Amino acid sequence: MSKREFQTEVSQLLQLIIHSLYSHPEIFLRELVSNSSDALDKLRHLTLTDEAYKALPFNPRIDLELDEEKKTLTISDTGIGMNEEDLTSNLGTIARSGTKNFLSQLSGDAKKDSNLIGQFGVGFYSVFMVADKVEVVSRKAGEDQAWRWVSDGKTGFDIEPAERSVAGTTVVIHFNYEGAQYANSWRLQEIVRKYSNHIAFPIFLTYDKSEWNEAEKKSDKVRTTEQVNAASALWRRPKSELTDEDYKELYKSVSGGWDDPLFWFHTKAEGSLEYTTLFYVPAKAPLDLYNAEYKVGVKLYVKRVFIMDDAKELLPQYLRFVRGIIDSEDLPLNVSREILQQNKVLTTIRTASVKKILSELKNIAANKPEEYLKFIAEYNRPLKEGLYGDYANRETLLELVRFKSTKVEGLTSLADVKSRMKEGQKSIYYITGGAESLLRTSPLLEIYKKKDVEVLILDDDFDEVIFSGIEKYGEIDLKAVNKSSTSEDLKGEDEADKSESLKPLIAMLKKTLGDRVKDVRASVRLADSPSCIVSDEEEPSLKMQQMMRAMGQKDLPALKPTLEINPDHEIVKKLLARSDDSVAQDAAWLLFDQALLMEGVTIQDPAAFVQRLNRVLNLSV
Ligand code: ADP
Repeated sequence: MSKREFQTEVSQLLQLIIHSLYSHPEIFLRELVSNSSDALDKLRHLTLTDEAYKALPFNPRIDLELDEEKKTLTISDTGIGMNEEDLTSNLGTIARSGTKNFLSQLSGDAKKDSNLIGQFGVGFYSVFMVADKVEVVSRKAGEDQAWRWVSDGKTGFDIEPAERSVAGTTVVIHFNYEGAQYANSWRLQEIVRKYSNHIAFPIFLTYDKSEWNEAEKKSDKVRTTEQVNAASALWRRPKSELTDEDYKELYKSVSGGWDDPLFWFHTKAEGSLEYTTLFYVPAKAPLDLYNAEYKVGVKLYVKRVFIMDDAKELLPQYLRFVRGIIDSEDLPLNVSREILQQNKVLTTIRTASVKKILSELKNIAANKPEEYLKFIAEYNRPLKEGLYGDYANRETLLELVRFKSTKVEGLTSLADVKSRMKEGQKSIYYITGGAESLLRTSPLLEIYKKKDVEVLILDDDFDEVIFSGIEKYGEIDLKAVNKSSTSEDLKGEDEADKSESLKPLIAMLKKTLGDRVKDVRASVRLADSPSCIVSDEEEPSLKMQQMMRAMGQKDLPALKPTLEINPDHEIVKKLLARSDDSVAQDAAWLLFDQALLMEGVTIQDPAAFVQRLNRVLNLSV
């Protein structure tokens, strides 16, 4: 037997590990299973590509054997194996570049260091969190001699010749005090399912199972071997090999739901970064979609090993309804949440994933409109949130969201609205600020009806906030009809400015309404109604201001609306002809208040409004 010393860096690392800088000791199993899985991958690759290995048997499996009494766990694989040299260099040194640099960054502050270690990844050495002795017996594929490596994880290791009937590696863990909790079959099954369920190879657990002996009325221990993982890693198989049923089954295990998904997008990226993504869109929006405390439905895997779920970094918030998997070849197994936040690999995957999801949705919208409608019925709103937050994908999102409109039943796309634009129509128009029924009857729409111009009905509460920030659809301006300048578009060339003739009435209205209005002017947008209110370009509408106050924004400056009056309306004409008396003053206030009411804005003094209304009624009844 020969004694070898660990490379200095390994000793330093082991010191850190043993002083439990690692927060989850259970990950030792994930690391060892992942090593076995890599070893199986390597051998499979050789048997497929290298003549010298083609004849070798390849029965891939990983076996866990538990001895509860001795408190040992054996992990065996039929993978590539290691010879003496491999064992010495792989399990005695750290070959990775940047090791020195990494170790020099450690500060002695347990919390900071454990993050760094997570980023670096300690792999095999993590076993010394739970073991006071580890034996590795390995035989390299294509060689006859096997070797035993033994260490207590402190000073160094011993190496000696050993026997092993087939190629592969066996790791025997002698649990320490901390590790004793893992000498438990339930615990092991749980950990394997949590982290390694989709490792592509079967993982078997052999343990003493308690079985009821009816004859002797006692339970017997029966040595049992069971497969504990699903061994599917379906997403790593080529699309051509997978059936719809496969995808649906995986969806259920990923989402924990019972229903079938609406659609799925499966992508394998090869190039500077290698990763696989499989995204599902659930048929029904998740129940927590609008909770502040929603749960992310995409899980992160690294090389088929489950790393974490509920990581908000994986996709932008507006895509929180998406379920599925991101499986990267390039992230370290021990990647932590902190690291994910500024990880370049993940940022690249995320950016590409968003593009992929959106472009697939665009395809569906174009080629399967019926399916797309089902999607929109559930997810139009989150897509609109994306318009607000995801500037880079705004153009695509504008194509994807759907709108109510004055021209069609149901919903329409901006592309369709564009195709229906009238000759000479300069912009696409929309109205916001209340329930659909209120918006549809707004006086602001009258001129559009008269000119047969389409207006989008944006009745979601956040529509004004979102769309006031979006000025264009392609080359076309998007304009809110309740903005004062929008009416400029509509002025026909033959329509002279009627403000001049209304001057005396406008002066009277200004005097009466005082500081309740910013301005009073002749309207070009009204047909049937005598009056309406509009806001300045840069200001939130009155309705919006009202909502912002209701949500607790108390310190909003009081922004005043502009009152517009319809020069062609009978009431306006009569008022113009009348002297400024108390009836005219009542009428002035009623013109203003009714305009507010039509916009769904509460009027300041309902009692005064009713009194005026009754005085006017009294004259006409
Ligand atoms: P990593 O897996 O990140 O490279 P580890 O410390 O876990 O780091 O393992 C170091 C090396 O030891 C691996 O790269 C691999 O070459 C070798 N190794 C570990 N476990 C096995 C195994 N079960 N079969 C074959 N080789 C292994």
